[in-house]
Amino acid sequence: MNTLTESTAPPADKGKLCPLCSLPQNEVLAELGRWRLARTKTMKGHRERLMLLYREHAKTIDEQSIGEAYLTLHKVGQKFFSHAKQWAIFEPIYATVPEHWHRVASDLDAKADDHDQILKTPRLIVDNEDGTITRVTVG
Ligand SMILES: [Zn+2]
Repeated sequence: MNTLTESTAPPADKGKLCPLCSLPQNEVLAELGRWRLARTKTMKGHRERLMLLYREHAKTIDEQSIGEAYLTLHKVGQKFFSHAKQWAIFEPIYATVPEHWHRVASDLDAKADDHDQILKTPRLIVDNEDGTITRVTVG
């Protein structure tokens, strides 16, 4: 560790305290341009559970970037969730790190630990068999 570098870091660099900015390299699956694909720390009983995060520490990003993120996650998800008939990208209403933009995706195994929470979360369901994408709103 270079203490000189640390002590001269700009005070605005709050990312050091952010778990998404300091993801261990073994949890990062791919670097995709402005995005980083990672396996979530807790799988909650799913065979696969992923997170796509913005590379920079930002709470909000512009609409175009959000679109790009969903397209990217949709594309990689088809590979990582090929075992499942359906999988979903979740709105971050239960996000534990809301200050760093990211989206979580998982299969929809009804036996997973978070199945009840999934049913309460707005989500985009991707069907691997017929290729459809269905938006599910709640409440
Ligand atoms: Zn961060």
